[in-house]
Amino acid sequence: MKALIVDDSAVMRKIVINAIAQMGITDVGHAADGQEAVKEALSGNYDLVLLDWNMPNMLGIDALKVIRAKGITTPVIMVTTEAEKSRILEAIKSGANNYVVKPFQPEHLIGKIKDTLAKAGTG
Ligand SMILES: [Mg+2]
Repeated sequence: MKALIVDDSAVMRKIVINAIAQMGITDVGHAADGQEAVKEALSGNYDLVLLDWNMPNMLGIDALKVIRAKGITTPVIMVTTEAEKSRILEAIKSGANNYVVKPFQPEHLIGKIKDTLAKAGTG
């Protein structure tokens, strides 16, 4: 199980990495903006993408649209401070599999990941 952690905040990437390590996911890649996220996701070796919304160069939501347009079906969970219902709906419509609002408890993120992988048939 390899996860791509996308966030422009190094501190937040660390928080996510520490959280998923608690469920045994220690094989991780990083990206600090949407463009890097697309590049990494296209390399094809990821089983899960945890994707921030607000980032420089390319927003997470736009990276998600590009990733899906390229035919990549890797489960994507948005992990973002954007908590409005309209945002969540936009993400789901754009191909996100799940949604976690920051700040989060590690157990909450782990639960969402387990649900997402189970539904995707890869957990
Ligand atoms: Mg951000």
